[in-house]
Amino acid sequence: MNICVVGTGYVGLVTGACLADLGNHVICVDIDKEKINKLKKGVIPIYEPGLEGLVKNNRKENRMGFTTDLKEGVKKSTIIFIAVGTPPKENGEADLTYVENVSRQIARYMTSYKLIVEKSTVPVETGEWVKHTVKINNRHKVPFDVASNPEFLREGSAIEDFMHPDRIVIGVESKKARDLLVELYRPLNAPVVITDIKSAEIIKHASNSFLATKISFINAISNICERAGADVEKVAEGMGLDRRIGKGFLNAGAGFGGFCFPKDLSAFIMIAQKLGYDFGLLKEVEKINEAQKRALIKKIEDNLWIVKGKTIGVLGLSFKPNTDDIRFAPSLDIIQALSKEGARIQVFDPQAMEKAKKVLKGVKFCKDSYEAAKGADCLVVVTEWNEFKELDFKKIKKMLKQPLVIDGRNIYDPAVMKKLGFKYICVGRG
Ligand code: NAD
Repeated sequence: MNICVVGTGYVGLVTGACLADLGNHVICVDIDKEKINKLKKGVIPIYEPGLEGLVKNNRKENRMGFTTDLKEGVKKSTIIFIAVGTPPKENGEADLTYVENVSRQIARYMTSYKLIVEKSTVPVETGEWVKHTVKINNRHKVPFDVASNPEFLREGSAIEDFMHPDRIVIGVESKKARDLLVELYRPLNAPVVITDIKSAEIIKHASNSFLATKISFINAISNICERAGADVEKVAEGMGLDRRIGKGFLNAGAGFGGFCFPKDLSAFIMIAQKLGYDFGLLKEVEKINEAQKRALIKKIEDNLWIVKGKTIGVLGLSFKPNTDDIRFAPSLDIIQALSKEGARIQVFDPQAMEKAKKVLKGVKFCKDSYEAAKGADCLVVVTEWNEFKELDFKKIKKMLKQPLVIDGRNIYDPAVMKKLGFKYICVGRG
């Protein structure tokens, strides 16, 4: 099939590359000229395991092209995915400016039937607005359909998630739209949920909100464990083995971040409010998450006594491992709060340093974890990268001013750390 993907970010680029790999002809469009120029030269603007090779192969097979010209993309394709950003406004609502813009432009350039698919995460009723926008800008009065096909991939394992999804959700209003999307995804051999557009939109917000709720739930439990002298890791294990609960998203830590959970949660709260329902449960989920970030800062303060003038080594910037994405990462809140208190921060992350340099000022960016530990009054773990799990703590002990490790992700064994002579502070363990 001939596909156009508008928005070449984490979702758009992965979607484009995977659909090309399934044998389709894909044209990826973005307004960011620098991004498109890089992609044309084979440079991938984000870090996502396996993506570079996938794009390279499909470029070689002539199945994948890049342009800033949406008109070209619309002309050459039947299915157009909208995968632009839907960032939060100050009040938490989703900012749908980019979605509206793209919908209007697609309508103006259409000269034959198009299926316009929402891939971006959008509040319920956006499909109605997209349809309305396309209709009033449809100069040539060409037939079109709008569909919702929310994306569930996770950064860090995006290709695997796209190619082997737990389910594919398709929200449609016509048989033609349904047949096109079912055919497109047929090679993935995944369960398909076919529904109306509004239900599909809600499935995405409800799923992310549910997962965020699970994280905040276990974080709340971690507070009980800390106070009672219990071990949240064991509690999570004991809960997670119950198949009705499941093991996933039961890791206590320094709170969730990223471009999805925080914004989707607030957008869902806002859309519920607009529809006349006060989603108090989700407000509490947000509150627990904020408190969890503050709790890590408090542990640092309590163990350093005076933060001003101290050197703090920080391991991890990305909001989770295997990505360079720092959008809404807890590391940013934590580092900024400690810097404000007068601490000197020296940080290392395997992939997210370049992006972080643009937003974190007055911070020392180190070449590795050991440099981040050198001369520091404490070492703080904020992201659970695998390489942090394998550090030589005998070496680190010699480099730190005092043997103090504050682990916001519970990646070390408290007994081992104690034996090595560290004061080891973690989350919800004793
Ligand atoms: P992103 O910021 O990485 O990418 C968005 C891209 O859209 C940018 O490259 C931007 O330049 C481009 N863009 C903006 N306006 C444009 C326009 N008018 N024409 C062409 N391109 C335009 O964002 P992302 O992380 O890929 O997220 C995109 C959407 O997918 C969001 O709604 C997000 O919630 C959703 N989503 C994200 C993830 C994830 O893990 N990142 C997972 C599932 C769903």
